[in-house]
Amino acid sequence: MRYHIWTIGCQMNVADSQRVAAGLESLGYRPTDNAAEADVVVLNTCVVRQQPEDKAVGRLNQLKRIKRRHPERILALMGCMVGVRDPQPLRQRFPWVDVFLPPSDPADLWRLLAERAHVDEARELIADAEARRRAIGRPDLILPPSAGEQIVSGYLPIVLGCSHACTYCIIPYRRGTERSRPPEIIVEEARQMVAQGVKEITLLGQIVDRYGYDLPEFAAATETPLVSLLRQIHDLPGLTRLRFLTSHPNWMKDDLLRAVAELPKVCPHIEVPIQAGDDEVLARMRRGYTVDAYRRLVARIRELIPGVSIATDIIVGFPGETAEQFRHTYDLLAELKLDRAHIARYSARPLTVATRSFQDDVPEAEKERRRKALDDLQAEIIGEMNRRLVGQTVEVLVEGWQERRQRWFGRTPTDRLVFFTAAGEWRGRLVPVTITWAGPWSLVGTVTEQSPDRS
Ligand code: SAH
Repeated sequence: MRYHIWTIGCQMNVADSQRVAAGLESLGYRPTDNAAEADVVVLNTCVVRQQPEDKAVGRLNQLKRIKRRHPERILALMGCMVGVRDPQPLRQRFPWVDVFLPPSDPADLWRLLAERAHVDEARELIADAEARRRAIGRPDLILPPSAGEQIVSGYLPIVLGCSHACTYCIIPYRRGTERSRPPEIIVEEARQMVAQGVKEITLLGQIVDRYGYDLPEFAAATETPLVSLLRQIHDLPGLTRLRFLTSHPNWMKDDLLRAVAELPKVCPHIEVPIQAGDDEVLARMRRGYTVDAYRRLVARIRELIPGVSIATDIIVGFPGETAEQFRHTYDLLAELKLDRAHIARYSARPLTVATRSFQDDVPEAEKERRRKALDDLQAEIIGEMNRRLVGQTVEVLVEGWQERRQRWFGRTPTDRLVFFTAAGEWRGRLVPVTITWAGPWSLVGTVTEQSPDRS
């Protein structure tokens, strides 16, 4: 019995797919890269922009032919295309799909496998999912990733959904309201991940720094709930690194920044999107802060966390964004010199306030011009920053082997991608690498000590 999972979109989807894979493996399924030969196919989808949604529809249409020839095979559509709403309209549009799974909630797949494929062990997964649902009064992920391929760096969702409702964003409509997962479940999952060999855990949430504010456990807490969670996971023996993303500027309190600086396993890397460098655009996006507040936050992060790297997200061509407003974003990026920027062209999404209230009036060619201008600027900034690393030794957690170029790859604590060539098995090890070449998107180096022993 074979399964095939196709995943697109954010880290949360990667985490969900890893968990679905673990469930399928526990039922005796084995992975295949070829959807045409799989007994179970899961498409884990993203709709944050039109493009990933179009790709998922393309995949669904390809799979229609396979389903016609092999109706006994099971096709599951998961993630933000399904969302937390009634799947009836999707069922009408894609009648060849067998089951629709909301983000982070695969229980109906286990049910279908128990009924249709007579996989009796699936009943245990259903029972587990239901026990969790009862215990915490809401759907939850059912198990941490396991077995199969050895994962060095694993994702652990800690806040599901989002209630912020930025005007451009579809996520709250598809992932539901914000729900923090109970700390004891998270810590237990982290423990299991480490037991399975995971060395680096990245805690996930749409606004990860809002973790815990909705939980009774933290009602009387004086410190940021995420800080106490970081401390508990940090102490797990065998864990090498801990990260979290994505943060919202308004919730990045000093105690969180101090914890990042003080806890040695927590990497000095902060992902905190600004989205636009103009106050009027930020107000229409309903982000809840000004450019100047963000500028002060960047200064504070740099002050409290030595050697920190900062990543941001930007949307260009938001409705009504003038050339001058875009220029403000450009100038801000030039001024702040951040370590990474994900730049996206605005894409109107159904139901969002921006789609209902504003006209998507920046022409596509102009959006692309703005995107490219920011990309070119960032490449210059980061290229320059990285060149300063040549000759320096950085610490790399080795994640795997790149077959195509026959070399190892891993990341620095500041989330820079590093390649190196060396004989032996390096996966999962922490190695000092001396940088010999630097480009904007990656670094190349040589291992300094032949047998590092600090894994
Ligand atoms: N809560 C996460 C958002 C995840 S979506 C966060 O705050 O980062 C990831 C990124 O996609 C967002 O940061 C934003 O830059 C981009 N994005 C979201 N909606 C978009 C839209 N309608 N058009 C273009 N980019 C969008």
